[in-house]
Amino acid sequence: GAVIGILGGGQLGRMLSVAASRLGFKTCIYEPGGDCPASHVSNYHFQKPYEDEDALRQFAEAVDVITYEFENIPTSALDVLDGLKPIRPGREALRVSQDRLTEKDFLTNLGLKTAPYADIPDAASLKAALDTIGAPAILKTRRFGYDGKGQARIMQTSDADAALSDMSGAPAILEGFVDFSHEVSVIGARGVDGQVACFDPGENVHQGGILRTTTLPANLSAAQRTDAVLLTGQILNALDYVGVMGVELFVTPQGLIVNEIAPRVHNSGHWTQQGCSVDQFEQHIRAVAGWPLGDGSRYADVVMENLIGDDMDRVPELAQDPNVSVHLYGKAEVKAGRKMGHVNRVVRRD
Ligand code: ATP
Ligand code: MG
Ligand code: MG
Repeated sequence: GAVIGILGGGQLGRMLSVAASRLGFKTCIYEPGGDCPASHVSNYHFQKPYEDEDALRQFAEAVDVITYEFENIPTSALDVLDGLKPIRPGREALRVSQDRLTEKDFLTNLGLKTAPYADIPDAASLKAALDTIGAPAILKTRRFGYDGKGQARIMQTSDADAALSDMSGAPAILEGFVDFSHEVSVIGARGVDGQVACFDPGENVHQGGILRTTTLPANLSAAQRTDAVLLTGQILNALDYVGVMGVELFVTPQGLIVNEIAPRVHNSGHWTQQGCSVDQFEQHIRAVAGWPLGDGSRYADVVMENLIGDDMDRVPELAQDPNVSVHLYGKAEVKAGRKMGHVNRVVRRD
């Protein structure tokens, strides 16, 4: 059978591997770390650094298609893999989404709304940008940020110097603070043939920059729901995308504002495991393997809750609840702020 190569070995890689296995594929992960969530369930594990060009070539040799579970894959590694086996989603999606500035420019050029933003290459440009954008605002590193890391809030202009020193010299952008009523996300998929399918948008609550819950259905009008799905299709088509993508949106009276896009399966799509007959992980495997996309219609109301750090203490109790499905990532060490698992609570079934 065919082998799916996955760059990265975290919980997303783990759940992708399980989905691939159910469709009869084997998986081979490439992950420098040893005891990682995906390694427990994958058939093969290249435990090599991303700088090891020989290992990358052997990995490409061993697989039929290459996908990934995180967007910060070094460009040099992609250069080695390029042309050896298909990389899905393609490199354009990675190029655009690896850098918040490139991503915002791309979205703006598509005619989509984003927070007002400005490139901040140095201290002087921050003063000028704050004059235009105004406070409150958020300074974010252009690259490598996740779970709210690499961000500093500027409540008033006098916070500017402290925020800048939080970036430790990394290239940054300034974003105007969006006065949203709530946050939603769309998990979209596009097949090799260009077919597009989107899951129903979910409503997200963050705490301390980390996703806490996703609730289905989201509080959206029919028009907002249509808009969310259509703009996701626009993004997928513009990138000639193959695979699943997460699109984070702010809901405002002025319409939907795109926060960011993630070129991979997404934490806010975990509810699909209990809400649909084909979940986001199977949908992604179908897409990258060249299968037709599955039917992702939602047949239940679901609340997904992340188990972060000490939330693990609640597992024995949660496991007794007949409406709760428990998903644990097999991480050896519990740490504050670390995503250890999640639960899907089915609230109502069609
Ligand atoms: P992720 O883990 O989702 O990749 P991240 O580190 O990339 O997170 P963002 O999505 O940029 O972080 O921001 C995290 C959260 O902070 C957002 O979901 C939102 O709640 C808040 N936030 C970010 N940018 C803005 C903004 N411009 N205006 C208002 N709130 C914001
Ligand atoms: Mg992000
Ligand atoms: Mg985000």
